[in-house]
Amino acid sequence: MPDDDIATRLIHHPYVPPAGFAAPQPGVSKASTVFFADTAALRARRWHSRAGYTYGLHGTPTTFTLEERLATLEGGTQCLLAPSGLAAIALVSLSLLRQGDEVLVPDNAYGPTKALVQGELAHWGIGHRFYDAADPQDLARCIGLATKLVWLEAPGSVTLEFPDLPALAALCRQRGVTTALDNTWGAGLAFAPFDLRRSGAGVDISVQALTKYASGGGDVLMGSVVTRDERLHQRLRGTHMRLGLGVGGGDVEALLRSLPTLALRYRAHDAAARELARWLSVQPGIARVLHPALAGSPGHAHWRALCAPDGGEGLAAGLFSAVFDARFGPADVDAFCDRLRRFRIGYSWGGPVSLAVPYDIPSMRTASVTAWPHAGALVRFSVGLAQALAGLPA
Ligand SMILES: *Cc1c(COP(=O)(O)O)cnc(C)c1O
Repeated sequence: MPDDDIATRLIHHPYVPPAGFAAPQPGVSKASTVFFADTAALRARRWHSRAGYTYGLHGTPTTFTLEERLATLEGGTQCLLAPSGLAAIALVSLSLLRQGDEVLVPDNAYGPTKALVQGELAHWGIGHRFYDAADPQDLARCIGLATKLVWLEAPGSVTLEFPDLPALAALCRQRGVTTALDNTWGAGLAFAPFDLRRSGAGVDISVQALTKYASGGGDVLMGSVVTRDERLHQRLRGTHMRLGLGVGGGDVEALLRSLPTLALRYRAHDAAARELARWLSVQPGIARVLHPALAGSPGHAHWRALCAPDGGEGLAAGLFSAVFDARFGPADVDAFCDRLRRFRIGYSWGGPVSLAVPYDIPSMRTASVTAWPHAGALVRFSVGLAQALAGLPA
């Protein structure tokens, strides 16, 4: 094409780099359009097959690579990526629920998971109930003919009660109801969601906010949906395609870079958080520290059975909450947070920076499900990667 002008030659350049480049990091593909060799190949395209490529939104070598690694991490066989953890949660609920169905959500679930069923699904004629995850009998009572999906979360959001996850999953399996676990806290490391150590008791779907530990940088928002059943995966994948959920190649690149250090970082967060939680639990003014690996914390025995079954240290992420003595009101607790050194005030977790957030628990729980037994206000700490005790007020 010697007569083409420079603009055309810059686009249709004949150079093709030699094949065989190999390096520790996978290449990064960013594309909307994917070329087909000819019209016959275009007509033969199979949107649902992962053996080839059709359009950037439906997968690139980069997204397929991250999906495979996340499926391996969680002990699953398929994975879908969504633009945030919450988008992954919404994808699961939107895919599996129809008008007239009911979804069950733990009363101590991640707040926006509850807001989704109350503020969106309810408008489409999808019912919901909040259940007490500490009581498998309550879940058994809540499962009805219309129940098509049960959300699980371990531990509970902010209050960190650890449920008997194998019992809850086994119950749902007996009743033939699909289970989806929000596995952001466990990150695929603390326990294996598809193998909960009792026969037949694994979850059907494991969702993670990769935003937290998988990213580790506090600079990426992404979610994953891992399954072990091809039919279930294809159902979710169809919804994923129809909703147009996609992730950017640059964000996937960041995740692929972070994933090899996930286990190291998770252990470091965990060790620092336990040190700080133990220290705080004996300070005057603190009524109680909620951390699943601390004896006396709600569900500690369930945590031990699932996350430290060999009697060792186990794994427990970098989160804990402190309940203040009832004589400290919300203003005192806010002042405590404002005086913290090193800890910044902000949501999310899993990044290098330690964070603290005061919460008003009674307003977050459904009184009919879970009576909040503690009088005082609560602060949730997310411990970053700095030395643990350096951050507290003098
Ligand atoms: C942060 C979080 C989410 C949502 O993740 P985003 O990427 O922020 O949307 C979901 N579940 C849990 C338990 C979380 O902590």
